[in-house]
Parts: sequence; structure tokens; C-alpha cells
Amino acid sequence: MGIKLAVVGATGMVGRAFLDVLEGKDLPIDEFYAFASKRSAGTAVILKGREFPVEELTEASFDRGIDIALFSAGASASEVFAPIAAKKGCIVIDNSSRWRMDDSVPLVVPEVNPGDIARHSGIIANPNCSTIQAVVALAPLAVRYGLKRVVYSTYQAVSGAGRQGWLDLEEGERGKPPKKFPRPIARNCLPHIDVFADGDYTKEELKMVNETRKILVLPNLPVTATCARVPVFIGHSESVNAELRTSFDLDELKALLARSEGVVMMDDPANGIYPTALDAAGADPVYVGRVRRDYSVESGVNMWIVADNIRKGAALNAVQIAERIIGGKGGRGCE
Ligand code: NAP
Repeated sequence: MGIKLAVVGATGMVGRAFLDVLEGKDLPIDEFYAFASKRSAGTAVILKGREFPVEELTEASFDRGIDIALFSAGASASEVFAPIAAKKGCIVIDNSSRWRMDDSVPLVVPEVNPGDIARHSGIIANPNCSTIQAVVALAPLAVRYGLKRVVYSTYQAVSGAGRQGWLDLEEGERGKPPKKFPRPIARNCLPHIDVFADGDYTKEELKMVNETRKILVLPNLPVTATCARVPVFIGHSESVNAELRTSFDLDELKALLARSEGVVMMDDPANGIYPTALDAAGADPVYVGRVRRDYSVESGVNMWIVADNIRKGAALNAVQIAERIIGGKGGRGCE
């Protein structure tokens, strides 16, 4: 028997990517619903050649036995509607930041902590895009060598800020002032993603710190981050410096990464091979390159990690969670 699936925020950057990812999958969908705000009601989206009306999201939206809802309509919509949906028996996979750090909500990257899916009580959180790609590569190192400290520096695409972020770059290239970003993003680099918070870190930086600890179940892991927005449309690039607990053989570490689920190595500097945002855009893997020893500490490694922030960083990760639930590996009562 198939499922009833909904996409909430179906007209947005991530919502469109949901449709794109679902297009390439063979999920047993019996009924499909697309929701967005009042603004989009009456428009339509297309999935597998069929047109579906976009409906305004309301409390009544979940009164039709929807099994799984993929949410990407922002934190305030998730705050209100995710519990309503869950109460009506729907499993919500939420892309916003609203539920990620809630103790009762699992924060899941299927390659890393699939077992956590089964702990849900109606809501499962998708991590922040920059955290997802980082932990896909860090998790195998954490298991094999242990992690002592992690330093993130990110170079994040404008699509991470939704439709208006994209437009700010497109129109900024024609000299228009930004609407989403605090400064022009065209021909610029902004060390400012989301709002400034405790200790003058941005919320994006704090998300990376806290979500990494939660996913890897290392609550005291020293992690620090500097997140920057760069004039790239799709694909977040990250310099990840990890200090390991034990010594390591570099070739063995690279081989471990190469066979890790979700990782594709692009690491042949002699031949100019390393991943860039353009390599990752539209693709599913987390690309890892520039893997090299950090000589400044006893046992450290530097990596360059790139992924499509809208696919693996959002829509694909959520659909992979849904696949596991549908496959019986993580639904309520499973595992
Ligand atoms: P976006 O392009 O601005 O799209 C927002 C979507 O949410 C639109 O479909 C919008 O509908 C809908 N929406 C807004 N308010 C709503 C409401 N009150 N009720 C129902 N629908 C509402 O943003 P996005 O980039 O797709 O991001 C959506 C969420 O995913 C955010 O929480 C974001 O943090 C998260 N996320 C984004 C990325 C990324 O790389 N972009 C990665 C990870 C997570 P209308 O078209 O009708 O306005």
C-alpha cells in the first residue's frame, strides 16, 4: 500500500527541490498534496507529469490522513503547524531550525544516525545545510579515530537564504541593492549568516556547533565556526579542520572516507582535482577533497567539503529520511 505525502512550502527554493528529488525516486505515493502560504494558493506544481494545486496551509490541511509531510516553510510555520500535523498522526520531517535542538526531536542525517529516526514522536528535524555535509564526512572519522576538536570555515551559496537570497545575487550583479542580505552579495563575501547572537557568533555558526554535537552524540566536543556567504548560487563549500584523538595514517583515513556512505572523494591535487560548488550543484553526494595533515597539532586533518545545499543540505536529506520510514526502518513502532 502506498502513502499520502505532502510538501509544505512547495513553492520555495527547498520545496521545488523536494519535487525534483521526488521525481527521481520511486516512492509509493498514493496521494500527494502541496501547501504554501495564502500568496501561492491557486498556483500549481508538477510531480511525475501530474499537476497538483498549491493549497494554503491551514490547520485543516492535515485532516485527510497524510502519512508524511516534508516541511520547508520557515521556523514560524513549523512552530505552529508541525505539532498540529503530528497530533493528527502525520510524521513531519522539518527543514527549519525550529525543532532541531528540542530533546524530544531526533536530528537526523541518514548516513550518520539513522537509528535516531525511530525515537521520533511525530517530528523529525533535518539539520542545517552546512552541518549535514560536514557530519557526513566527520562521522566516520569520529568512529575510527575519535574527535578532539573541530574548526569550521564555510563559504555558503546564496540559495541557502531562499528565493530572495538568489534574487539578491542575480539583481546585485545588475547593480541593484540587496533585499535579503545586510550588504551587497555580488562581488562580495559576507561573514554574516542569520543574526548575531551570543558572544558575537551568528546563529548559523551556533547551529553548526550545537547540531554537530547533537548528531554525533558528543555534547562536549569543542567546535567553532565562521560562516560566510559568498556570491555562488548553489553549493556550500567548507574548510573543516579536525583534531583527532588518536594518530592516523593519511592514506588509511582517505580510504575510510572514500568508502563512507554518501561521500565521493575528489582529491588529486597533482592533477588539479578537488571539489567546487559547480561540481556539486544538482548532484547528491558530499564531495571531499584537499585532505591533508594539519602539521600544527599532533593528530589533525584538513578537508574541503562541498555539497548541494538545497539537495543534500535540505530536500534530499529529508527524502532519504522519508525513504527509511517508508521502508520500515524508522517509523513509529519500527526498529
Ligand atoms: P523560500 O524559498 O523563501 O520558500 C519559503 C516557502 O515557505 C515558500 O513555499 C512559501 O510559500 C512558504 N511559506 C512561507 N510562510 C508560510 C506560511 N506561513 N505557511 C505556509 N507556507 C509558508 O525558502 P527556502 O530556502 O525554501 O527555505 C525554507 C525553509 O527551509 C527555511 O526554514 C530554511 O531555513 C530551510 N532550509 C533552507 C535551505 C536552503 O539551502 N535554502 C537549507 C536547509 C534548510 P509562498 O511561496 O506562498 O510564499
